[in-house]
Amino acid sequence: MPSHTRILLGMLIGLALGLMARLSLESDPLLPWLVQNVAAPLGQLFLRSVFMVVVPLVVAALALGVAEMGDVGRVGRVGIKTLGLTLLFSALAVAIGLFAVNVFQPGVGLAEPQRQALLQAVGGGEVQHAVAQAAQAKSWAQTLVEVIPKNPLAEAARAFEGGLIPLMVFALVLGIAMASVKPEQAAPLKSLLESIQAVMLQVIGFAMWLAPFGVAGLMFVVAATLGADTVLMLGRYVLVVLGALAFHQLVVYGLGVRLIGRRDPLAWFRGMRTVMLTAFSTSSSAATLPTALAAATEDLRLPRRVSHFVLTIGATANQNGTALYEGVTVLFLAQMFGIQLDLSQQASVMLLSVLAGIGTAGVPGGSLPMIVIVLGTIGVPGTAIGIILGIDRLLDMCRTVLNVTGDMAIATCVAASEPENETELTENVPSVLTA
Ligand code: ASP
Repeated sequence: MPSHTRILLGMLIGLALGLMARLSLESDPLLPWLVQNVAAPLGQLFLRSVFMVVVPLVVAALALGVAEMGDVGRVGRVGIKTLGLTLLFSALAVAIGLFAVNVFQPGVGLAEPQRQALLQAVGGGEVQHAVAQAAQAKSWAQTLVEVIPKNPLAEAARAFEGGLIPLMVFALVLGIAMASVKPEQAAPLKSLLESIQAVMLQVIGFAMWLAPFGVAGLMFVVAATLGADTVLMLGRYVLVVLGALAFHQLVVYGLGVRLIGRRDPLAWFRGMRTVMLTAFSTSSSAATLPTALAAATEDLRLPRRVSHFVLTIGATANQNGTALYEGVTVLFLAQMFGIQLDLSQQASVMLLSVLAGIGTAGVPGGSLPMIVIVLGTIGVPGTAIGIILGIDRLLDMCRTVLNVTGDMAIATCVAASEPENETELTENVPSVLTA
């Protein structure tokens, strides 16, 4: 059975058992005992095996993503345009997601006692601590200063208590610096980080064996504490994510291709059919790259020098669907936990989501470690991710479609603005882009 089917099954079983337990055991002390001593530890076991790679993975993935983006900038005009469009499309995607989640508020409506029970069940003491920390308002100046880590290792050690942002800043600077030194100077570090990234993703692969049981445990906790309301809430959340993704896919890309790329959007989407299907079925931008490269030349007739460049870089560094999804998910969970985010906090979620889109590996579930990080920064326990894990695969399939469509949209826009028959890019192309 494919792993996503097992996870989905785990979720359904956990949900059903949780709801049944809630109905049949109601005020029996056995119910909280089951939650605390069986279901929650099962979920924790799985989550902790994912969390343990978050620190190395994030540093490696983000530094590499930024280094690649920096390399793009080096390659001249096409690079700058790609960079600009990546940021523009990502920011629009997150803005759409945040708008939708603010308007439809899928996570609002839990009564206070239910919320407290959920907090207790999902995060234990950790949560109270995180919430208390989030409530400690700091001055703007202080917040700004503390974003620069004094000691990245110390920040890594307190990663889940607010250290991740400074750590991400460190990774960001590392990536920029890697793109600024001579390519041969950065090469060993780059391959080390690439190796770290690959190995850490493999560890997550191992953890995924536990996923069906972990997800069953987590869903049991949620269903047993919240009852049927949860199912409704999750349904609303899925609809908001899908609606926002569809809007971005059709309207933003459609307009971009029409206005900047000067193409007929309908014909363009028709040419993208195989690519979108591949992305949907593999849930991986990286796995879709070969199909995308072929379609760019054969179906969309894009000049190879632009499409190869943009698509290769985009498969790892431009993930609009993921960025949108992260924004929605983080805000949804914040709503569920009753954490009010003001405008500036939402702006920082937006920024982090854009960054997370850049730093996410183009593999199934690549964005999950990033979500944990963004959650931590706004005081939601990372374990809350368990609430949405069961339905993640479906959403992953959909957001991956956007991720690759976005790359192709950028390639189309860049190609339209380039004079034909130029070969500027054949020189100075960083090795990572030609590999
Ligand atoms: N599966 C996505 C991709 O490959 C990444 C993610 O959002 O998890 O593009």
